[in-house]
Amino acid sequence: MHELSLVASVFEVLEDEARRHGAAKVTRVVLKVGVMSGVVPELLLSAFDMYKKGTLAETARLEIVPVPVKLRCPGCGGEAVREDTDFSCAGCGSRRVEIVEGRDLFVETVDLET
Ligand SMILES: [Zn+2]
Repeated sequence: MHELSLVASVFEVLEDEARRHGAAKVTRVVLKVGVMSGVVPELLLSAFDMYKKGTLAETARLEIVPVPVKLRCPGCGGEAVREDTDFSCAGCGSRRVEIVEGRDLFVETVDLET
């Protein structure tokens, strides 16, 4: 299960953060998840709930913020955020575009309690 290994690496970040701030508890976690990351938010939520038992994030709430796809066109230098799956440049119509955002998952915010 892809989501479970992602959650494991998220917990490494949480534990690092808590240790650095001398916190005893993680109360809220905001994750930014690219719409093209291949992550299913529901599976991520249930993996998080499964994983957090017995950790310092046992009572933490997970919020998932979707990140839309952002494209950059090497041809005309244009950048655009696409809500749909039309991955072409809004400026010149080129289909040779690079995806610069929307493929990653990262921890945006961690709320801690000491
Ligand atoms: Zn272009």
